[in-house]
Amino acid sequence: MFRHLGGPLTRGGGRVLRSGCSAAGPAVLPVSVLLRLRSYSQAVDRDDPNFFTMVEGFFDRGAGIVEDKLAEDLKTRESPDQKRKRVRGILRLIKPCNHVLSVCFPIRRDSGEWEVIEGYRAQHSQHRTPCKGGIRYSMDVCVDEVKALASLMTYKCAVVDVPFGGAKAGVKINPKNYTDTELEKITRRFTIELAKKGFIGPGVDVPAPDMSTGEREMSWIADTFANTLGHHDINAHACVTGKPISQGGIHGRISATGRGVFHGIENFINEPSFMSQLGIRPGIKDKTFVLQGFGNVGLHTMRYLHRVGAKCVGIGEIDGSIWNPNGMDPKELEDYKLANGTIVGFPNSTPYTGNILEADCDILVPAAGEKQLTKSNAHKIKAKIIAEGANGPTTPEADRIFLERNILVIPDMYLNAGGVTVSYFEWLKNLNHVSYGRLTFKYERDSNHHLLMSVQESLEKKFGKHGGSIPVVPTSEFQARIAGASEKDIVHSGLAFTMERSARQIMQTAKKYNLGLDLRTAAYANAIEKVFKVYNAAGLIFT
Ligand code: NAD
Repeated sequence: MFRHLGGPLTRGGGRVLRSGCSAAGPAVLPVSVLLRLRSYSQAVDRDDPNFFTMVEGFFDRGAGIVEDKLAEDLKTRESPDQKRKRVRGILRLIKPCNHVLSVCFPIRRDSGEWEVIEGYRAQHSQHRTPCKGGIRYSMDVCVDEVKALASLMTYKCAVVDVPFGGAKAGVKINPKNYTDTELEKITRRFTIELAKKGFIGPGVDVPAPDMSTGEREMSWIADTFANTLGHHDINAHACVTGKPISQGGIHGRISATGRGVFHGIENFINEPSFMSQLGIRPGIKDKTFVLQGFGNVGLHTMRYLHRVGAKCVGIGEIDGSIWNPNGMDPKELEDYKLANGTIVGFPNSTPYTGNILEADCDILVPAAGEKQLTKSNAHKIKAKIIAEGANGPTTPEADRIFLERNILVIPDMYLNAGGVTVSYFEWLKNLNHVSYGRLTFKYERDSNHHLLMSVQESLEKKFGKHGGSIPVVPTSEFQARIAGASEKDIVHSGLAFTMERSARQIMQTAKKYNLGLDLRTAAYANAIEKVFKVYNAAGLIFT
């Protein structure tokens, strides 16, 4: 397994940083101040851990649960001690991030000024290829963050049986400070930097949208790759997912993560055995929910929950929060945000002045950034269910408090996997060079028509036509399906199936290891078992 090694930073070149986000040198401070700072930073660290360390901690918890069973199940002629060593070796191999690329490149701004942009891509695992994971634009982007998010992607893909390794990229900019032309320059140049170092390509590494990126950016990426390094590759457009339909995208990708969040909540909230532990009635209808973040994931989660009768009573955004105990309409709010650039001032609401995460509701959906639920607010959370739409919103300390308080956390690596699931469908569509349903659409419609005619003929043969013909009228549900499944139908049913199957697996794992409400550890255990199998079957480590 090769790792990129740090080299000198060249303009437009790649280098690896080993840890940390800051390039600042050490400060010279008096010992007393240093000691105070150290005890402060230890206190802060406990509540604000390094993100990658946080994911590693969750991994360790899951690995500790499955280790014995993995060794016991090994079908080799090794001694128990050798088996144990093999299991520990593979687990040690799974945990770290395999490759991290750090790039700096210049752009000329519209004003004529030059600016140097920083970006990263981490590839956590190649146990399955290509690697897969989003690209975000945010001022919080750093090596630690992309490594953490890349490793989460590995476990997420394993949980939903999507055959990819995990990756993640980030560009350290606030997109609101750049014009569209500047954003296009940054995106295209970042794509070239990734391509030069083998960090993008349909068979090696396939990015997707994440915070502050969407169809437009994915389209620039696909176009840049297909017209440069990928010009000879018929599959070049499969180098990225989340593209517009005209560029090889797939119906249902934009809303996929929110739709998956809805299915994920549905699968657990309808389960009487879990709801009785929380002391609430199963079912989504009439449950209240609060969102943090009204972006891609937040909006679509709201739409689907609202559609089945749940009530969104509060939403928190970066510039303010809104509240309505009678519920708010997603379409009206989406239109308001499009027109005003904010949710603040939405007519059908009042301002919410407290911390929205602590608001009164049945389900809390963090759908913004990481480490939002910490030791300092976990005691104040009123929701009985925390549905992690965002990646990494809960720190380990908060997670422990939620378990103690009997609050059900539906973990990110399962709950927001709808995006990568539908990205997988898009990637397959690109490799197949045909849209879902294209070959079978007419055949299915004709077959359904012939089936109805055949039933009608049989009935008329048996009972005669004395009272006139016996028309066989399809139900409205069958009528809607008679024309065969469209791409959208296939995507939606594939996603619902995936989310349900994975929920069952997590529930079984929780039961098998007696984990109670600790679905995060169950999901990690589940993912680790699957990744372990791949490494083990591949013959492992070059000895
Ligand atoms: P987005 O940029 O579309 O939306 C994020 C929203 O959160 C923005 O409206 C932003 O203003 C708001 N926000 C940021 N910080 C906030 C804060 N402190 N309080 C309140 N609001 C805040 O991003 P997104 O694609 O919806 O991603 C949201 C989360 O979901 C991220 O953690 C992301 O990694 C995760 N996720 C996204 C996808 C996807 O397909 N887009 C898939 C899986 C996971």
